[in-house]
Amino acid sequence: MATVRLAELSWPEVRDLVARDPVAVIPVGAFEQHGPHLPLMVDAHLCETVALAAAREAADRGAAIVVTPVVWTGYSPHHRDFPGTITLDDKVFSALVGQVAQSLWHSGFRRILVLNGHGGNAHLLRNLTQALHYDHGLRVHAASYWDFALPALAEWRQSPIGGINHACEMETALMAATRPDLVRMDLAADHYLDRPRWFGSDLLAGGAVTTAASFASLSPSGVIGAPTLATPERGAELLAAMTVAVADFLVDLAGWPQPAETPATTESDR
Ligand SMILES: [Zn+2]
Repeated sequence: MATVRLAELSWPEVRDLVARDPVAVIPVGAFEQHGPHLPLMVDAHLCETVALAAAREAADRGAAIVVTPVVWTGYSPHHRDFPGTITLDDKVFSALVGQVAQSLWHSGFRRILVLNGHGGNAHLLRNLTQALHYDHGLRVHAASYWDFALPALAEWRQSPIGGINHACEMETALMAATRPDLVRMDLAADHYLDRPRWFGSDLLAGGAVTTAASFASLSPSGVIGAPTLATPERGAELLAAMTVAVADFLVDLAGWPQPAETPATTESDR
């Protein structure tokens, strides 16, 4: 079967692929602490893993599709009090992802998904889809991979609310399924947030109020959630459900009728 990795194609192969009006997926991660039991690469690794698995599934169902290399660092200032975290500021992050998307657009890709793997990137990517459209005439979609599978996640979880947040039941299980060599279950310990109810504590229970807070002030270990519930078997089960859920969207995106292109606005239009 043909590769879904853009990096493995030559330019004439990309030219021929673009003639089929393919989907391009840009996985975006982060490089940040994930507690004592997981490595810094979790978000980049999981997002790329889901992106590639879902793209292969979508290709099996007939979609023309490629995945770019993962953007390995993201917006993580809230994690930088833990050693090893590497973050971009909001402007550099948005410019970086935006210029990857603009390069794909210039190559002729018109069905672009930025697939996010780090909660801290999400608001910037939502903004970016707007800025790319109104300032540059691009139409780009953005979503976090877990958002496609929230019902499956709700069904799958064993933890109460607060157990799926960061280096948690979900991320630890997905890592145990895909990179067991990097998971130290002997160092995993659960940590539930003790915060006023106004703030979100779980991927499935966002709060009404948002604010900025260093992770170090919320959790001394860097963990928020219930990693001790994770097993490789449960991780494989969740990864399979997420792969199908993301692939469902990719197949849909590959077949959508394309709206007429909006010309880019100029400086004087704003
Ligand atoms: Zn993470």
